[in-house]
Amino acid sequence: MFCKNCGNEINDNAVICPKCGCAVKSLSEYSDKKWGTAMVLCLFLGEFGIHRFYTGQTASAIVQLFTGGLFGIWWFFDLFTLSLGLYRVYGRKLQGFSILFGLFALVIWFLLIVAIIGMAKGA
Ligand SMILES: [Zn+2]
Repeated sequence: MFCKNCGNEINDNAVICPKCGCAVKSLSEYSDKKWGTAMVLCLFLGEFGIHRFYTGQTASAIVQLFTGGLFGIWWFFDLFTLSLGLYRVYGRKLQGFSILFGLFALVIWFLLIVAIIGMAKGA
């Protein structure tokens, strides 16, 4: 594409023209990652930070991987914010948030935890 300000040809993905320094595109408020995918990954594999690997937040993902989602606390926090659509990827929202599926996921997670604790007690 061409810069609207100086007319030089620039990369199609450029946000700021490297020739004149003017903004050519406003940053989208949405990430290119899907909310539903992050939600499902967090629900079942959130204790390993898999949802953060998906959203490209690799550094925090690695921390979660080795601490079990900070002993489950961070896992729950991420799940909670994802469920209510408050989760942000570098300040951007995920695509396709659904409050119904979010609340449903919270209930599923709760039942999952109750089942795991129940199994641990039974063993
Ligand atoms: Zn320019």
